Parts: sequence; structure tokens; C-alpha cells
Amino acid sequence: MQHFPIFLDLSGQRVVLAGGGETALAKLRLLLKTEANLAVYADRPAPEIEAWAAEGKLTLVRRPLAHGDAICARLVYAATDDAAEDARVAAIGHAAGALVNIVDNLFDSDFITPAIVDRDPVTVAIGTEGAAPVLARAIKADLEARLPATLGPLARIGKAFRHAADALPFGRKRRDFWSAYYFGAGPRAIEAGEDAVRAALENLLAEHLAADAAPGRVDFVGAGPGDPELLTLKARKALDAADVVIHDRLVTPEILELARREAVLVSAGKEGFGPSVSQDDINAAIVAHARAGHHVVRLKSGDPTVFGRLDEEIEAVDAAGIDWRVVPGITAASAAVASIGQSLTRRGRNSAVRLLTGHDLAGFAEHDWAGLARDGEVAAIYMGKRSARFVQGRLLMHGAAAATPVTVIENASRPDQRVLATTLAQLEPTLTEAGLDGPALILYGLAPRAALAAAPDLVADLPSDLPAALTTEIAR
Ligand code: SAH
Repeated sequence: MQHFPIFLDLSGQRVVLAGGGETALAKLRLLLKTEANLAVYADRPAPEIEAWAAEGKLTLVRRPLAHGDAICARLVYAATDDAAEDARVAAIGHAAGALVNIVDNLFDSDFITPAIVDRDPVTVAIGTEGAAPVLARAIKADLEARLPATLGPLARIGKAFRHAADALPFGRKRRDFWSAYYFGAGPRAIEAGEDAVRAALENLLAEHLAADAAPGRVDFVGAGPGDPELLTLKARKALDAADVVIHDRLVTPEILELARREAVLVSAGKEGFGPSVSQDDINAAIVAHARAGHHVVRLKSGDPTVFGRLDEEIEAVDAAGIDWRVVPGITAASAAVASIGQSLTRRGRNSAVRLLTGHDLAGFAEHDWAGLARDGEVAAIYMGKRSARFVQGRLLMHGAAAATPVTVIENASRPDQRVLATTLAQLEPTLTEAGLDGPALILYGLAPRAALAAAPDLVADLPSDLPAALTTEIAR
């Protein structure tokens, strides 16, 4: 870029133009749009120039430019249609320290005048470094056709209203107000005249101020196990309406995609809120966004009430006096058990099911191992990958049968779902050897349904009478 485009404030500034013919006229028509102090030096000025001088739009001096005439001038235009005279004018301009433009002489000019689309105060300047004036004209014509003539008055009225609009908080609220004006209320009102536009602006501002005063709120929403089709309708609606979505790392991109286009997405970091974002920071972020009047969706994988640190967040939101509600979701255990065609409870087998976490704040979590070791018990173990060996050891120690079926489901409900069917005795090293890198749920006491007819598309190629001790990896 040889020429750097800037918008120069010419109001009250002295601008000198030498020349009185067609070339001078063309430049003067442009310069008359500015608020500059225009002085024209011409021994034979065109009648239009005489007329402008008579109307007080410019000062006319009926002689060629002389030394001293360009003193204090910001810009000097040489438009005499005579190369030698233009060069003399340029020298005078330079001596006075002004920026000089020799019309149609790019090489000897300090600056060039772009092609202009004028919707004052909106001005589009088009430059091609002199390379393609035809192109500049074509672009100008295109923009002239595309930008409505009302843009100028809309922007002028809008500019005068800026101060009033500062009553709205800086940022998205204010931006929303201005887009509603320029792309809705403004163009609609302009047909009825400028007063109507001003009235529309007042109304719009009142509306936005009222909306702004509306308190923020928080929806704790379950995103389910990953498949967007496993979202509840309520979750979808909440995502549609959200201003801010604060989500866990486990929430899939396909689901985040469903958030309102304008919504701000905030990642709350690690699964299980690991060290990267502290729970306090997450609580503070939720409260801060809601206090700013936003509709916050706190999006948690699965069901927010299952190993979701929900209570801590509710307490923080409650303490700040902010409204909240919980939108349940499908928890990983439900998705995992569905994928192997089993039930979490079954008459005659287990009348209770436990949801366990593999580790808690203190490390590997202790549970009622003796109770779990009894025949027919079923447990869904969350966050259990790292603690599998610990769980296995504890259960065997408390007398659980080595052949108790255990199924590990990685990425339940997602396209990359994997099912590992194993037994308590084989859980490790099977799990480690499988090298899972997605979220995994361990179903203790359940094997994939032997009668695969029940869910043929969920589990493939599983032997129909799975021996309890057999370790099989079944990919979906
Ligand atoms: N609130 C979530 C659980 C959060 S704890 C829920 O209700 O599902 C995170 C643990 O959930 C992971 O370590 C994993 O054990 C389990 N999990 C979450 N999504 C999963 C998925 N798609 N497949 C398997 N396990 C999943």
C-alpha cells in the first residue's frame, strides 16, 4: 500500500486551488462538500466559480497563485491544465509546507483523491493507487446502487443520538441497539421523515433500557451424553434464548452449534472441573454474566444433577439473588446402558442401582464395597478410568465374583462410541490396554445383552452367549 487512506478534518482549514477550468471545477465540486476555507486562484475563472464566490462558498482571487498565497494551507491543488504552471504551483505549495496534489499527475502528487461514495456522514473512499481508475469507477457505481440514499440521514440522526444511547451499557447491549436502529427501526421510519426517525430512536432506546433493566437468570441445563438428538426440547429452547453459554469441556461441538448465533460461548475448562478453571472462577463467571443482565445457560454434560458440582453453583447464584432453574438431561449411565441393550434395574436381579464416582476430592473414592460385592448388584461408575484397578481390588477383596460382568462404554451415544465387555477379574488390564481417550462409563454387573436382536445397531458382532470371563471389545 503506497498510499495510506485517512480521513482528514478540513473544517476551518485553508485549502488552496489554482486553476479555473474544467479540471478545477471537478475538484471544487468535491471540495465544496467539506467545511474547508477554500481559496481559488485563477485569472480566467469559469462562471460556476464566479457564482460560488458570489454565494460566499469560496474566496476567488483573479490572478495566478503567487509565493505567500499558500501560507497556512493544509492542501494545495494544482488544477491549471498546464503542466509547467502546475509544477510552479506545486513548488509554491511545498515551500509553504502544504500537501500538494497535481490533478492527473499521480507521480508528482503528495496525495491522491479517492473515488467517493457520499452518504455523509458515511463516506466510502475507493483507491487503486492509480492502477485501475475504471475499476474504481465500477466499484463506486456498484456501491452507489447498493447503499440507500437514506443511509446519510440515518447516520446523521444516529450520530446526534449517540450521547443518549450511552445510557446503555457498553458492549453487546449497545451494539444490539444500533443494529436494531440501522437495520430495522431507522429504515422503517425514514419514509415518514426525520422527525419520525428521531421518535423511533427514542422508542427503541426506551425498549432497550427496559430490557436492560430485566435481571439476568441462570439455567443449569443438561446437554446429555453427546448426541445432539438426546437433548431435551427445554434444553434446545434454553440454548436458543441464551446470551451466554458456559459449558464443560465434555459438551460436544455439535451441541454448542445449536446455541443462539449471538450467544457468547465460554468454556469452563476441564472435565470434572480440573485444575485449569477453578470452581470458584466458574461460579464467579456465572454470577457476573447473570448480574450483567444476561440469560446464562450453564451447560453441563449429561444431567446437571449427576456429578456436576451443581449445588456449589446454585449456592453461588442464590447468594447473588439471581433466579435459576435446572433443566435435566440424559446422564451418561442412561446412554451407556441403552447402548448395550440393558436395563439399569431388573426385576429379580437388582432393585437398586448406584451411581458412583471413581474419585472424589480426597482421591480414589471409598464406597460400600461389601454391599456392591453381593450377587446381582449394578453400579454405574463415572470418572472411573483411572481408579479402575482400585475399584477392582476393593470389590474382589470384599468377595465379589471374579466373573461379575463389567462393561465399559466410551463416548456413549457419539459416533466414536466403543464398548468393552469384560469381567471384574479382567477389568484391568483390559481398560488400560484399550487406551481409551474419551469419557468412559463403567457399568458394573452388566454385560451387553446377549440377545442382540434387541439392539442390533448398537452392538455388533457380539457372541450370543458371552462367557462371563470373556473379554471382548465391541466397536459400534
Ligand atoms: N453430569 C454428567 C457426568 C459428569 S462427570 C452426566 O450426567 O453424565 C464426567 C463423567 O461422566 C466422565 O468421566 C464419564 O465417566 C461420564 N461420561 C460423560 N459423558 C459420557 C459419555 N458420552 N460416554 C461415557 N461416559 C460419559
